[in-house]
Amino acid sequence: MSTVTPITEGTVDIARYRQDFPVLARPMNDRPLAFLDSAASAQKPECVIDAEARCYREYYANIHRGVYQLSQRSTEAYEGARAKVAELVNAPDKREVVFLRGTTEAVNLVASSYVRPRLEPGDEILITGMEHHSNIVPWQLLCEETGAKLVVSPINDRGEVDIDDFRGRLGPRTKFAAMVHVSNALGTINPVHEMVAAAREAGVPTLVDGAQGVPHLAVDVQAIGCDFYCFSGHKLYGPSGIGALWGRFDLLRAMRPYQGGGEMIRYVSFEGSAFAAPPQRFEAGTPNIAGAIALGVAVDYVREVGQSTIAAHEHTLLEYATARLEEIDGLRIIGTAREKAGVISFVLKGAHPHDIGTILDQEGVAVRAGHHCAQPVMERFGVPATVRASFGLYNNRDDVDALVNALYRVKEFFG
Ligand code: PMP
Repeated sequence: MSTVTPITEGTVDIARYRQDFPVLARPMNDRPLAFLDSAASAQKPECVIDAEARCYREYYANIHRGVYQLSQRSTEAYEGARAKVAELVNAPDKREVVFLRGTTEAVNLVASSYVRPRLEPGDEILITGMEHHSNIVPWQLLCEETGAKLVVSPINDRGEVDIDDFRGRLGPRTKFAAMVHVSNALGTINPVHEMVAAAREAGVPTLVDGAQGVPHLAVDVQAIGCDFYCFSGHKLYGPSGIGALWGRFDLLRAMRPYQGGGEMIRYVSFEGSAFAAPPQRFEAGTPNIAGAIALGVAVDYVREVGQSTIAAHEHTLLEYATARLEEIDGLRIIGTAREKAGVISFVLKGAHPHDIGTILDQEGVAVRAGHHCAQPVMERFGVPATVRASFGLYNNRDDVDALVNALYRVKEFFG
C-alpha cells in the first residue's frame, strides 16, 4: 500500500493515479520500480497510450487535405488537441499554438524566424545562468551568424537568478530575452512574471522555456506576459516527438516560415510562393498526428488531476526528500532555491554520480546522473555532474525512501 498523503484533503488521492501508469507496476531488478526521472521524460498513463493506439487502429489518415471521413476525423482530433493545449496555457487563441517536436525545436524556430531577422552586429540576447543547452546553443549559433552577443545573468549559490542583475543587463542593445521557467538541473522556479515584466519595460520580447514549467505548475501565458512559451509533450505524460510553441498571434503572423514544404503554403509557383497563416505556416510537412492527439489526451489527464494538485503533491514530496537526503552524511544538495519544483540534484562525497546511478538502478531506483544538458550550471557549482531525482504526479514517499535506502547502500559500497 502506498504511503502517499492525500493532498487536497478528502478530494484527491494521488495514490489512485499511480495505477494509471502501467510501467510503474513492473519490477526493476526484482524490486518495485522507483521511477525518479520524470524531468528527463515522464511515464505515460494508459489513456495516452490508448489514444495513440486508437488513432492508428480506428481513424488514422493524413490531416488537413483529405475529403474522406477518416482524414476529417483525424484533422478534427489533431485540431482539437491544439485547442486543448491552448486552454492548458490559457492562450487567447488556438491559432497561437504551433505543434513542433518539442522545446528544442521551438527555441530554434523562434531564434531563426523571429529573432534572426531583427539582429544587427553588436545586439544582445539575454539569458540566465541556469539554462538548458537547448536555450543556450540556438542563441550562440545565432550570435555566431549575426555578430550579436550572448549576455548571461548569473545565478547565486542557491541557484537563483538575481532579478536586479537581470534587469540591469537589459540594455538598449538587448533585442531578446529567453529564460527557463523551472530549471531541470536545480529545480529552481524562476520569477518569470517579474523577469518578463522587466523585459517588457525595456521593450524586449521574451521566450519562456516551459519544458519543466508545464509539467509541474499551472501556467498562464497571459498572466506571465511573455511573447513565446514552449514545452515538450513527453515531460507532460504525453508522447515524445511532439510539443508546442505558443506565440502572440501578431508576432507569429509577422514571422518568416521556419521550414519550407507542404502544408505551410497558400500557393506555390516556380516564381514564388505565398505562405499559410500561423500556425500552419510553421508546421511544414506531415506532423506527428497521433502524437499530437495523444498529447491532447495527456493535457486532459493533467487537467483532470489538477495542475495545482500536482504542484502541491510534488512540493510535499520535495520537502520530504530534501529532509531525508539532508540526513545523509557527505551528501550535498545542488540547488537550494527558495522556490523549487520537484527536482532535487545532489552529489555524494567519494562517489561519482554515474556510479551512484548504476548502484541505485540495481536497487530499482531510476535517477538521472550527469550534467543534465546544463553544463554551465555544473561549472557554476564546481561539479562535473550530479545525481538528480525528479518527481512526477505518481511518485510517493516509498519512492523517496527507496532512494534514501539505496544511497546508504552506495555509502557502504564506497566505504
Ligand atoms: N529545457 C529544459 C528546462 C529541459 O528540461 C529540457 C529537456 N530536458 C529541454 C529544454 C529540452 O526539451 P526537449 O529535449 O524535449 O526538446
